[in-house]
Amino acid sequence: MQVYIDHNKCIGCGRCTELCPQSFKLNENGKSQVISTEEIMCIKKASDQCPIEAIWVDE
Ligand code: SF4
Repeated sequence: MQVYIDHNKCIGCGRCTELCPQSFKLNENGKSQVISTEEIMCIKKASDQCPIEAIWVDE
């Protein structure tokens, strides 16, 4: 499984990192980055709740 974040779209709102701190973190540019793809259910939830649909899950 692959998880992609479109850094051109990410506004760094922190929603995904709050929902799944084990899977995402904000980098030094204030953009989300993937740190683990193990928690797929949480990642899907974060993808659904990202306000600008910047998280893509490819199973
Ligand atoms: S929820 Fe979306 S916009 Fe917000 S930090 Fe995560 S990827 Fe970026």
